[in-house]
Amino acid sequence: MTDQDCIFCKIVAGEVPSDIVYKDEHVTAFRDINPQAPIHILVVPNRHIATTADLTAEDEGLMGHLVRVAHLVAEQEQIATSDRGYRLVLNYGKDGGLLVYHLHMHVLGGRRMGWPPG
Ligand code: 5GP
Ligand code: ZN
Repeated sequence: MTDQDCIFCKIVAGEVPSDIVYKDEHVTAFRDINPQAPIHILVVPNRHIATTADLTAEDEGLMGHLVRVAHLVAEQEQIATSDRGYRLVLNYGKDGGLLVYHLHMHVLGGRRMGWPPG
C-alpha cells in the first residue's frame, strides 16, 4: 500500500531521487536531505505506515527488522562501534518534532550527541 501524496512512498518507489544506502523487500534506507549530523540516514518501511501510533501487532516483526537494518547501515558507515556509535530516533507529535507522516527511524552519527536532546 502506498500513499499517493507521501514523499517517502515516492522515494521507496524510485519516483523521487534519493541516496539509497540499503533496500530489501521490507525496508529502505536513504540519506536525509537536511542532515543533522555527518551521518544521517532514514530507515523506512516500504509499506506506508504513517506513524508509530498506526503500528499493529502484525508490524512487530517489521519494526524489529527495521532496527536491525538501522544497525546494519551504521556498520556500513563504520560507526557501529562502542567508541564511535550512533543514535536511533523515532519522532512523534509536535513535541517530538514529527514532520513527515511515513514512519522513519533516524540513524545519526559521526559526531558526539548531546543528552538530553535539545
Ligand atoms: P521528522 O521530523 O518527521 O522525524 O523527520 C523528517 C526528516 O525527513 C527530516 O530530517 C527531513 O530532512 C527529511 N526529509 C524530508 N523530505 C525529504 C526528502 O524529500 N528526501 C530526503 N532524503 N529526506 C527528506
Ligand atoms: Zn508513505
